[in-house]
Amino acid sequence: MSNKLFGKTKITLLGAGCASLSLAARANELDAFDFTIVDSGAYSSKDHVWGFWCMPWLLNTNSMSRKKWFKWKIVSHDKEVIHSTDLFPYSAINRNEWISNCNKKALNNKVHFKEKTLLNDISQILDSRPPKVPEGNMLQHFVGYEVESKNDIFDDTTAILMDFRCDQSLGMHFIYCLPFSKRQALIESTLFTSEIAPSKFYDNAIKKYLNKIIGADDYKILREEKGAIPLGVFEKRNPLYDGIGGNGGAIRPSSGYAFSFIQKQIDKIISSSQSGNKLKVYVPHSRFELLMDRIFLKVLRRRYELAPRIFTNMANSLSGDEFAKFLNGEANIKLWTKVIFAMPKIPFIAGFFETLKNKDPRW
Ligand SMILES: Cc1cc2nc3c(=O)[nH]c(=O)nc-3n(C[C@H](O)[C@H](O)[C@H](O)COP(=O)(O)OP(=O)(O)OC[C@H]3O[C@@H](n4cnc5c(N)ncnc54)[C@H](O)[C@@H]3O)c2cc1C
Repeated sequence: MSNKLFGKTKITLLGAGCASLSLAARANELDAFDFTIVDSGAYSSKDHVWGFWCMPWLLNTNSMSRKKWFKWKIVSHDKEVIHSTDLFPYSAINRNEWISNCNKKALNNKVHFKEKTLLNDISQILDSRPPKVPEGNMLQHFVGYEVESKNDIFDDTTAILMDFRCDQSLGMHFIYCLPFSKRQALIESTLFTSEIAPSKFYDNAIKKYLNKIIGADDYKILREEKGAIPLGVFEKRNPLYDGIGGNGGAIRPSSGYAFSFIQKQIDKIISSSQSGNKLKVYVPHSRFELLMDRIFLKVLRRRYELAPRIFTNMANSLSGDEFAKFLNGEANIKLWTKVIFAMPKIPFIAGFFETLKNKDPRW
């Protein structure tokens, strides 16, 4: 079998999720390559919301945005930090809308779809199936309810990225709230720990938040979403293939944000492509960022009670635009210095030395 089809280099994409389809949707920018997506459909995801800052490389999401917030806040028991921006609003899109739009574009681009393939057909394989995550690794896990209330109860001008006024008994826990209107919002109970919590835990947290903090008494749950995002750098699902998306290191370990980094990774694949050569896949985080994220997760694992202080201090040290840049891997030395100086010193120094001596594959 040849690895060329009509002079084009054959690329097989394993999995039909965010990364594979986002790349296939742009196959028209990769004329010298012929793409096939392979997915059995056995692991297809339910619909959910992707939230991200609308950075310059994400302007193609504008037409699909359910809402944009030019203000967001981080809240603890004793502090509230509100950021605003003109440049990088926080945006939310529906997963299924993005996926079906990419699907359409991929079909227009003559991308082939198969349920299974014989991998003796020589081609470059870009594997987007989930990586191997060691037992006991840090996860960002959450359950969210999209709710509709009878009355105007949400401030729809401001996204709540983190509200720590919730049960901290299992580890770092916060409520994420995207108010789509005064009556409709997505409320998520989110933890950064290595163990998934019993479903009652998230349910209680969301209902208590709605009741006690938002003051909601008459609402209905429109839909539910849940997920567990592994935080760290992991062995690829198959070491012989190039990984993309979560399997290509695109998830930011310290935050679990991935959508924006997947699009960044795809931009780089396209801009570095050369006819006749394989596609190159880059991890969209620097070595420095990954080291800092590892230290950060060590601190959050051991000293989770510090999380409200760490996040409010970090937000307080940056402007809205700087915060968006920082969370999107666009921080310069000045921003890093501000953040480092805002952190509690002793736990981070201990975390640094632990990172240096610890070869544990778990993050
Ligand atoms: C509910 C939820 C909410 C999220 N919210 C956000 C957010 O707000 N912002 C953000 O930036 N990120 C968010 N993420 C994280 C991230 O953006 C998504 O996980 C994103 O879909 C990752 O893209 P991917 O292509 O790497 O993996 P996926 O989109 O998960 O695609 C993986 C592919 O592999 C296939 N597959 C899965 N398991 C197997 C298996 N065992 N064998 C074979 N094939 C398999 C699947 O069918 C799928 O086609 C969220 C994740 C979830 C689950």
